[in-house]
Amino acid sequence: MDIKQLEKTLNREPSFRLKQAQKAVFQDLIDDWGRATVFSLALREKLKREVPLEIAAKLFVAADQKTVKSLIGLADGLKVEAVLMRYPKRNTVCVSSMVGCPLNCEFCATGKMGFKRNLSDGEIVEQVLFFNRYLKKSGQRVNSLVFMGMGEPFLNCDSVFSAVEFFNRPESFNIGARHISISTVGIIEGIKKLTQSSLPVNLAISLHAADDETRSKIMPINRRYPLREVLEAVEEYLQKTRRKVMFEYIMIRGINDSLNQAQKLVRLLSGLRKSLYLVNLIAYNPTGIFKPSSSEQIQGFKKVLEKQGIEVTERYRFGRQIQAACGQLAIDDEE
Ligand code: SF4
Repeated sequence: MDIKQLEKTLNREPSFRLKQAQKAVFQDLIDDWGRATVFSLALREKLKREVPLEIAAKLFVAADQKTVKSLIGLADGLKVEAVLMRYPKRNTVCVSSMVGCPLNCEFCATGKMGFKRNLSDGEIVEQVLFFNRYLKKSGQRVNSLVFMGMGEPFLNCDSVFSAVEFFNRPESFNIGARHISISTVGIIEGIKKLTQSSLPVNLAISLHAADDETRSKIMPINRRYPLREVLEAVEEYLQKTRRKVMFEYIMIRGINDSLNQAQKLVRLLSGLRKSLYLVNLIAYNPTGIFKPSSSEQIQGFKKVLEKQGIEVTERYRFGRQIQAACGQLAIDDEE
């Protein structure tokens, strides 16, 4: 839905009308203006025409019901994916910021689709609105967001920052900025923008290798933003915000998972305060090109880091069988 159009459509009405409309759409989660009976029939009709609430989507639910993927149709016929992950105490949506992605990381299905276009702020908001409607029947809501879906969020800064600000508003979804994370391959301008932002949003860096040679092989963007520059920007971010950064590291067999890489990673991060970052090891989800590291290799890698006092987590494998896991998002209607 077009969040700016909603404001435009109501700009000649008294200001409380916009508040009523936002409450109806984002809190009561109506999917038809006909239900907004606080409005006159004429205004409901106008809203129906100018700000349609329908979201055309297909759903894919994993057998354990913990992961749900949506394939949302956009006004121009393109489609975008978003994933709901249901934890015992929270519901997290993995949000997309683009259709496709121009960065072509070797291990990522989205990168292999090529780049179609950036999403608008409204199209980002719609992904969360959709899952809030989905959760309504179980009396739950989305309480946290990660920008880790399709696309690089910091190559679409205007829409992403506008959507984040919107998610945070009490009259929309009221999701605290501390429950929102943006994951980037290391676009320096975006990291700097987040450093300056007044919203305490979390930062995650897709590192995936500990030296430039290995990283450039699997992430071509490293040639433009090499590791040293990315880490300098992260250091600035840490100094200014004191908020913990997550370094994500996909474990790919024979590519970046050697103990030598683990030692290089220790050296790479040695300039940062250990209490201000953690390393998240992610088992590679096969997309056809590489193989995942064995669990022994992951444990060995983890030990090298932990021995040096680095906090390490391992990401739970959500949604593999519905192609909703990390790096697997790519439009395929036939799933
Ligand atoms: S990993 Fe992220 S940045 Fe890289 S191609 Fe995939 S979506 Fe784009």
